Amino acid sequence: MPDGKKPGKVTVLTVYRYLPGTNCKKCGFASCMVFASKLLTKEVKIEDCPPLLEPKYKDKLEGLRELLKPILETKETGVRVDPDKCTGCGNCVVVCPANVAADPQIGRGLATTSDEVVLRVEDGVIQIIKLEKCRRFPPHGLDCRVCEQYCYTGAIEVF
Ligand code: SF4
Ligand code: SF4
Ligand code: SF4
Repeated sequence: MPDGKKPGKVTVLTVYRYLPGTNCKKCGFASCMVFASKLLTKEVKIEDCPPLLEPKYKDKLEGLRELLKPILETKETGVRVDPDKCTGCGNCVVVCPANVAADPQIGRGLATTSDEVVLRVEDGVIQIIKLEKCRRFPPHGLDCRVCEQYCYTGAIEVF
């Protein structure tokens, strides 16, 4: 993390345990579990669950704020590519753990056409396809910089 803080491993299930668990849908989602996943990706705020603000859930609310504090305080992070420096070697595509998880074909040394990967070579140049899959983002929040380390031209910058 740029500010030196690493969020601990917080899963959807961990977050769910701090929600009312009634699946009342007042948040606009089908269940508390879906809302928990949206909280982790910062698509919603804790306050978007109205029942949680009721006095009877005070302990859960405080617990959830404490649990999510490191994630919510995480500054913007990401991966930047400089196409002018990229030779299209594909090293970063192969070594990125998020890429391999998204498309096992990459692990077998084959080219990927998946739209679920973070990085993909297109027309001989690296492209960022789905940045939110990068392990630097919640729920992982890891200080991963494998792609940067394996790019011998300095075309990738992790920040
Ligand atoms: S409003 Fe809160 S309690 Fe109701 S479904 Fe959404 S997360 Fe669950
Ligand atoms: S930082 Fe890690 S997870 Fe993110 S793109 Fe690079 S190798 Fe993949
Ligand atoms: S960004 Fe670097 S490692 Fe990735 S394809 Fe381009 S030159 Fe290769």
